[in-house]
Amino acid sequence: MNTATTLPEAKKIGMVSLGCPKALVDSERILTRLRADGYAMSPDYAGADVVLVNTCGFLDSAKEESLQAIGEAIAENGRVIVTGCMGEEADAIRAAHPQVLAVTGAHQYEQVVEAVHTHAPPSQGPFVDLIPQPSDTDIKLTPRHYSYLKISEGCNHSCAFCIIPDLRGKLASRRIDAVLREAEKLVAAGTKELLVISQDTSAYGVDTRHEPRDWKGREVRAHMTDMARELGQLRTPEGETPWTRLHYVYPYPHVDAVIPLMAEGLLTPYLDIPFQHASPKVLKAMKRPANEAKVLERLKSWREICPEIAIRSSFVVGFPGETEDDFRYLLDWLEEAQLDRVGAFRFEPVEGAQANALPDHVPEEIKEERFARVMEVTERISAAKLKAKVGKVIQVIVDEVGEPDEDGDIGATARSQADAPEIDGAVYLRNVATTLKAGDFVDVTVEDADAHDLFGVPA
Ligand code: SF4
Repeated sequence: MNTATTLPEAKKIGMVSLGCPKALVDSERILTRLRADGYAMSPDYAGADVVLVNTCGFLDSAKEESLQAIGEAIAENGRVIVTGCMGEEADAIRAAHPQVLAVTGAHQYEQVVEAVHTHAPPSQGPFVDLIPQPSDTDIKLTPRHYSYLKISEGCNHSCAFCIIPDLRGKLASRRIDAVLREAEKLVAAGTKELLVISQDTSAYGVDTRHEPRDWKGREVRAHMTDMARELGQLRTPEGETPWTRLHYVYPYPHVDAVIPLMAEGLLTPYLDIPFQHASPKVLKAMKRPANEAKVLERLKSWREICPEIAIRSSFVVGFPGETEDDFRYLLDWLEEAQLDRVGAFRFEPVEGAQANALPDHVPEEIKEERFARVMEVTERISAAKLKAKVGKVIQVIVDEVGEPDEDGDIGATARSQADAPEIDGAVYLRNVATTLKAGDFVDVTVEDADAHDLFGVPA
């Protein structure tokens, strides 16, 4: 007699995740929760009972992309739930796509899950209702060897070009013990590189007055330096120190305290500081936080403590009121700052941002011209910095290993400590061992460089 219990087939969820790494973390959380509720994931539109589109609403171009993605999901599947930043603009979404089943905003995990339960009720049964431990079931959209660690939501600033505080609210920091526990689980589960993200990492814990919590018998504050020190104590199951990268850090004075941790090898010598401009006049108009004159001196002293530190930043050109003199100030500043990695953007008005009402908008052709000039300077600096690494031995993390070519050589794509995934350059390797795999740390000799990437062989 056949006594096997027939399991009800799990409902399947499709997911389209748009936008920044922060949105990707949200998608992972939603999927983890749905998986715990007994749902399965569908890799394509056709097999999904419902499709979630996690949208980005930061720039008008991102909104356009979000609307297109919603349209595609409706055409391919028909049953679509929208979430994420653009979910705050439910009317615009419904006007473009009246068929959407539900619209929820950024971080409204409960509402998204509820909408999924309503429109694709979970299959009932004792086997699919079990809630497994998150460490075993986290669905990761990022490759397994690196993970984003989100420490807070929202922002207390009001930069003139940004609507994040309107979309996501004031700063709300996670408890330090919850952050450290998540980091510990991720590393135990195979993460080799943690990417700490938030809107303003240096402000972590300001809203909770840096509330201390017990962590392994020690009192640890919700504060960037305490967190960095504790993350530096983590070890992979193989006993290695995982890379820990700090993103979206503003140059407040307390940032100085994490540089020695980098020099000690406990924290990746990398800081992502979105300076956005250098001219004091433009920074004031932008209402940027930590806008102080001594940043260049700080960079110099950081490099004295930790010479290998890589500084990444992003800049906006063509902000309203930016004159040729302001722009030249920026170019001169960049020559002096010698940043390792730079992203540049042409100013784009975002619906609802204060900057739109500022006078003296810069014509598009001047924005283009300034963008080209800033890229020319920063690429030249980057090329010189990378060239200086030729002949040196550096540690890299492997992202992807290729197939053997006709001579049997295997290539791999890796990154140095100066390269964050998805935004910076790569280190292309040749002649790697057949046993090499994604997530391995390996020492390589740098053989060549261009403006963005390095090329090397295992040392
Ligand atoms: S610091 Fe400024 S740019 Fe960053 S999220 Fe806050 S308001 Fe927006």
